[in-house]
Amino acid sequence: MIKLPESGLSAAERFALDLLVDLARLVPAAPALDVVRLELTNQPARDLRSWMAAQWGIDVADGVVRVPRAVLGTVVDVAGAASEQRTTERDRYRRVSSSANPLVREGLEREPVIQRAALALQAATRKAAGRRAFRTVAPWPEGRRWAAAFTHDLDVVSWWPAFTLLRIVELTRKGALARIGRVAAAAIANAGFDPVTQGVVGVLNHEANAHIRSTWFILCGTPTLRTMRAGDLTYSPESTRARGILAQVCAIGHEIGLHGSFATLDHPEAFRDQRQRLEGITGPPVRGIRQHYVRINPGVTEHAMAGAGFSYDTTYGFPDRNGFRLGIADVVQRWDDSAKKPIAIDEVPFTWMDRALSKYRGIEDPAAWSKDALELATTARAVGGLWVGLWHPNLTPALGFPDAPRAYGATVAGVLAESPFVAPLDTIVQWCRARRAVRASAITADGKVEASTGAKVPFQLRLEDADGKAAEATR
Ligand SMILES: [Zn+2]
Repeated sequence: MIKLPESGLSAAERFALDLLVDLARLVPAAPALDVVRLELTNQPARDLRSWMAAQWGIDVADGVVRVPRAVLGTVVDVAGAASEQRTTERDRYRRVSSSANPLVREGLEREPVIQRAALALQAATRKAAGRRAFRTVAPWPEGRRWAAAFTHDLDVVSWWPAFTLLRIVELTRKGALARIGRVAAAAIANAGFDPVTQGVVGVLNHEANAHIRSTWFILCGTPTLRTMRAGDLTYSPESTRARGILAQVCAIGHEIGLHGSFATLDHPEAFRDQRQRLEGITGPPVRGIRQHYVRINPGVTEHAMAGAGFSYDTTYGFPDRNGFRLGIADVVQRWDDSAKKPIAIDEVPFTWMDRALSKYRGIEDPAAWSKDALELATTARAVGGLWVGLWHPNLTPALGFPDAPRAYGATVAGVLAESPFVAPLDTIVQWCRARRAVRASAITADGKVEASTGAKVPFQLRLEDADGKAAEATR
């Protein structure tokens, strides 16, 4: 538990402090309670590495933790993506260049640095508590200490031989000649079959065997020659094959979200049109969105997403490398740095994507992609956080990716071996919102803490004491 300053904070500082307290899983407490109080101090700003080396400048006294105001600025820059909102650097898809990300600039994108700052705050608060009551909220449901989510973007449905040819061109350019032979053989063997649906079924089988549910993002516009050439829309969601795939995915209880097409970047109303069109096919609700090619205009596009009724976005990952783009392995609210206010949508940053190493780093061995996934999962687990993986179901031998399906199986098995909580993203977002809403209102004479989430939530949350042992449940 912790008592936060009630005044004297700018909107950005309030956003950053709430975010740190949430990631620290500290329970904000009513002013009258005898628990640790947080104060802000004025220290000169530092760069990221020097804040990390200085344990974020957090100071501990009896019943008080002091956090430098300047740290809050860093939190907004990184986890609020304020730095990315200030840059004008764009790549050829009009995305913010990865090189403009503050963590990439420091070579720190594989570290959830802001989450580590929050854990430093948690440790300092525990130390400052002394004999005062101390509680955190349990991180994940079912007593799990970290979480994982498996997600898929459905980019390919129609015209599969064209994708095989494009991939052969890519492999030729890279000189991966041995692979080309295997791709061609697989493609010829699949002539007259449907390797796209087979790829989807392969992913569904891996997940059914592991007893997990995943989240699928579906393109939902009308393809034209122009959109196909651009690598944008290449299939109609109403086509027989797409409907067949959606029916299979829905029948098992996986979540369906929208994969926003290129048009959404310049035409905000397209979000609502595409969302409604998708709900017309799969039935409501469609709550999640991820942008095709991760094209997002930070601080701007999220307003359009929220306005179209999405409750979460999961676009914040790097296209060309894997890691923690916002410095966190969790769910956070989005921030508009021009208007200096939060945006009414949650962000679930993705950590790892199959094609990041292949398309941009020239690493064509799927086993290496899987190894990278598991490394980042280990990091997410170390901070009690969330790992989100993105696997494209079109990565099959006939479509240009020998050995890839087996690597997906290895990734699922490797992640599950460390016992995370696994769920579709909508469930994870709902849990995180409930966790964020917990407030402590009283401590009884026998030392019991009364806490509640305020509104009805689909979960019962547990508090944990200073030793990490299960304590009270929320009301
Ligand atoms: Zn896509």
